[in-house]
Formats: sequence, C-alpha cells, structure tokens
Amino acid sequence: MILGYPRVEINLKYIEENTRAIVERCSKYGVNVSGVIKGVNGIPQVSKAYADGGADMICSSRLEQIEEARAYGVDKPMMLIRIPMLTKVEETVRVADYSLNSEMEVIEALNEAAGRQGKVHNVVLMVDLGDLREGWWDQDELCDAAWRIENELENIYLAGVGVNVGCYGAVMPTAEKLQELVDAAEKVEARIGRRLDIISGGGSSSLMRIWDGDIPERINHLRIGGEIVAAFTNEVVYGYDMSCLHKDAIRLKAEIIEIKDKPTYPVGTIARDDLGKYHTYEDRGIRRRALIAVGRLDYHDPEDLIPVDKNIQVLGANGDYTILDVEDCDIDYKVGDIIEFVVRYGTMVYLTKSRNVKEVFI
Ligand SMILES: *Cc1c(COP(=O)(O)O)cnc(C)c1O
Repeated sequence: MILGYPRVEINLKYIEENTRAIVERCSKYGVNVSGVIKGVNGIPQVSKAYADGGADMICSSRLEQIEEARAYGVDKPMMLIRIPMLTKVEETVRVADYSLNSEMEVIEALNEAAGRQGKVHNVVLMVDLGDLREGWWDQDELCDAAWRIENELENIYLAGVGVNVGCYGAVMPTAEKLQELVDAAEKVEARIGRRLDIISGGGSSSLMRIWDGDIPERINHLRIGGEIVAAFTNEVVYGYDMSCLHKDAIRLKAEIIEIKDKPTYPVGTIARDDLGKYHTYEDRGIRRRALIAVGRLDYHDPEDLIPVDKNIQVLGANGDYTILDVEDCDIDYKVGDIIEFVVRYGTMVYLTKSRNVKEVFI
C-alpha cells in the first residue's frame, strides 16, 4: 500500500465523546440513541466508538456493514434501517436483530427465514407521516399488519413503530409531527392490547426536539449518524447550540503539488467544463493558487471541504485536483506542504470509500 497523502484522519475519541454527549442529553428525556454507521461506510472502528459512547444499538442501511461491525466484536443489538429486500430476508435475519419494515410480504418472508434459523426477528413498523419516503400511509393497514404480526407470525416480534422525516419531503420533525407518531403508536397498541417497546422518532434532525426540550413524552428512540460524526445542520442551518460536540472528528489532509501566481479569470473562450457544467468566475487579478492532490473522485463535492486555515478559499475541483486560493494566507505554502480540511458529513461516504485516500485512526 502507498502510505502518506491524501489521508482521512478519524478521531475515534471525538466520535465516542460526541456519542456520549448526545446520549446524555437524550437520556434526560428517556430517549435511547442508536448510532448510524452508513455515512462512513460502516467503518467498524466507528461502530465501536458509538458503542463505547453509550449508543444502545448500531444501525445501518447495509447488511454488509452490520456484518462487519459484528465481526469486529461490537457487542450491541444491530438494526437494519432500510426496508429489507425480499431476496435478502435470510441474511437480514442472520445479521440483524432488528429491521425497519413497511411491507407485509417482506415481514412474512422474514418470519419464515427466522423460523428456519430458529430465531425471533424484531421489527419496527415505519409510519409515513408526510415525508413520503418509506412507511405505511394508511394507518388502518398499519394496525392490521401489527395485529397479524402479533397474533400469527411466530418468529417475528413487533418491537415498535418509527418514522423518517427530513428526507425526500424535507418535512421538519416538529413536536406536532412527532406527536402524530405517538398517536399512531397508540392506535397500534390499542389494536394489539399491549405497549410497544420502541417509538423511534427519526434521525439527526429530531435532536432539535431534545435541545428544545419538547420531544413528545413517549418517543424513546432516535437513530443518529450525521450529528455524531460531523454536527452541522442543527447548528448552522437551524441555529441550535451544538457546542458540546466536536465538529472535526474527521479531517482530510492533502499535499500541494503545484503553487503559482495565476489569473483568476480563465483565458480563452469559456464554455462548459468537463462535466458539462457552466461556472461563473470573478476576475480578481493575479493571485497565488495551490493545487492539491485530491479531487472529486475522492470526495465528490468541494463545497464539503472546510479549510482549517481560514484564509484558504476552495475555488473548485475536478476529478483529480482541488484548486485553492492561498493569496491571503499568512503561511508561505510550498510544494509538498500538507493542507488540512474539516469535512462535512456528505463527503465522508466518498472519502472513506476511496482506495486512494488512506484511512488513519487517531
Ligand atoms: C440514514 C438514516 C438515519 C440517520 O441519518 P443520519 O443523517 O446519518 O443521522 C436514520 N434513520 C434512517 C431510516 C436512515 O436511513
């Protein structure tokens, strides 16, 4: 393996501390936190950091990642948070203790698979409350499904209900919206004649209800990835004080391979770039620019890179290069110097997958 740069440095202690900070705040409201690993490609060390920080379960949308966490020795219940594929019910039951579900046909197949494996598989039924991603829309059908599971499917345990918001429909997890989930849960409970164990009120965005202290009382579970690994949206978009969290648990480091004074406005007939896109350029005269050896192929979107040196401006990128304006920097950068970035959550899935980016745990 070629060592060195570019590299992504993952601070497992920060991830553990962030998990603990969120777990502690949520526990005041009787809410358990499950750690979601899909955003970092299920790096098993991150699963362990979540577990060490007090997450009650490990969640992923990908069975392979759950399997890897188990193989690494993470000793927590595992939850599949994408509706299982009908063709993967056998693996779902083998690898995951819980799964989120919205199709009776799949749950019946899970029941048969669990029977064959001599197991009981736990399901959380998803309710669609308007975000229009997964889940039952018709709550009578939801209650019928719950009744069938409870009374007719021997190898399935109905653990609870859950919702997803803030995705396709960008619907906010308001207290009213989450109360709708509690209402749906209580309809299910009335139908099956017992209380549900889990009422799962969403992902990172639902933390704003904890911070505001108005999460409906019976919500007792959240599934959190982004806000543990790279808190951004709640603070920057919605203005919540997330200062109890480290924002730089994951950093990208890359090496300068060219540094020159160049014009800021392209010279020639300007058309579309190599990806067919138009750009706008501001003519700021001749300025010092550095090229670093990391590009879109590694991280996808240069807007997700935040230079640690505040005087650096990310101008753009193509597959292989990232172009930086370093004119205003106090440091006199040279070829071979290392530039460091804090990265947003959205890019981590690329960085942690790129075979060209070294993964280093600190
Ligand atoms: C991805 C996902 C989450 C967690 O979202 P993050 O942005 O990683 O916190 C929660 N629930 C479901 C169903 C998901 O797919």
